[in-house]
Amino acid sequence: MTADATPAPKTKVTALPGDGIGPEVMDATIKILAAAEAPIEWEFAEAGAKAFERGVVTGVPRETLDSIGANKLALKSPLETPIGYGGKSANVTMRKYFELYANIRPVRELPGIQTPFSGRGIDMVIVRENVEDVYAGIEHMQTTTVAQCLKLMTAPGCERIIRAAYGVALAEERQSVTVAHKANIMKLTEGMMKRMGEKVAREFPGIKAGQVIIDNCAHQLVIRPEAYDVIVTSNMNGDIISDLAAGLVGGLGIAPSSNLGDQVAMFEAVHGSAPDIAGKDMANPTALLSASIMLLRHIGAFDVAEKVEQALFVTLAEGRNLTGDLAPRGHGVGTKAFTDQVISNLGRN
Ligand code: NAD
Repeated sequence: MTADATPAPKTKVTALPGDGIGPEVMDATIKILAAAEAPIEWEFAEAGAKAFERGVVTGVPRETLDSIGANKLALKSPLETPIGYGGKSANVTMRKYFELYANIRPVRELPGIQTPFSGRGIDMVIVRENVEDVYAGIEHMQTTTVAQCLKLMTAPGCERIIRAAYGVALAEERQSVTVAHKANIMKLTEGMMKRMGEKVAREFPGIKAGQVIIDNCAHQLVIRPEAYDVIVTSNMNGDIISDLAAGLVGGLGIAPSSNLGDQVAMFEAVHGSAPDIAGKDMANPTALLSASIMLLRHIGAFDVAEKVEQALFVTLAEGRNLTGDLAPRGHGVGTKAFTDQVISNLGRN
């Protein structure tokens, strides 16, 4: 930069450090982005366990909702949700509050990460409906021995997620969109997704439209994962198959996602708060860092996104400084050492 050049204006983004390994992977990501001179100004906000502890029943304080609502952009670390008891998930609350209906989960092979599937050319995007289905939170006890959960799916909800999937296919010049469903059993709800897929597909004759029953999809993802391009599916199906797909290319430590609505975009790792390794300098920050690269592209900071992605790829390909989830047993480095290596690789090809 010359002495009189004005620095690029910064985009304000709400950062939620979250729970468990959340603060560690957020710290790593922010350090790398700062070193890469990303044009972002962070506004930190709280959600999750600490908010629940101080009596915020939704897990998301008003100030946090206001910050995200004003900035329209957020980078979020995982939030802990009590399993099988307690209040509603703070994640679900935010997805519903901001109508973040499209959960975009890219899955592809990364340099240097060896898995039984390496070299197959896995490169797909799972587009998961994010606010309806059995995760809509309509669940209650019928009697003391009978619990009931409502699977809620709407035609507008199915239509916008299918359109989002075709949007991804067009933007990334992908060849096919496959609707994964369970319409053979749930003919009205899952059937609605399948039929909407067929209807919307007619508007995109240049893109190959497919459909598959979700259990076969899980099977096909293991048998021939390279055959998939864009998969669109309902909320719970998408939650499950995207973890499966992440496992094919190296696991949850590397899987990013975005949650998109018409107004707000929130970027996060697919993984949870990993309480088993929290606070031990063991977490792999790749997933959140990759989510931040999606964020950079979303705001048009393509050069910085490229620079950070390249430094990440070089670090993974070198293979000397991988976190324990990726390194051979006993040879992993800590979150901080991995972060320093990515920073030292900024600008390398
Ligand atoms: P998890 O994703 O936290 O952990 C599953 C396994 O993957 C663990 O062995 C963990 O150590 C490992 N792992 C996850 N991320 C890793 C990383 N970055 N580096 C290295 N290893 C990593 O799933 P869980 O244990 O089922 O859930 C824990 C908590 O997280 C729960 O409260 C759950 O509700 C919450 N959760 C939150 C989100 C979110 O905020 N979006 C997503 C999933 C789960």
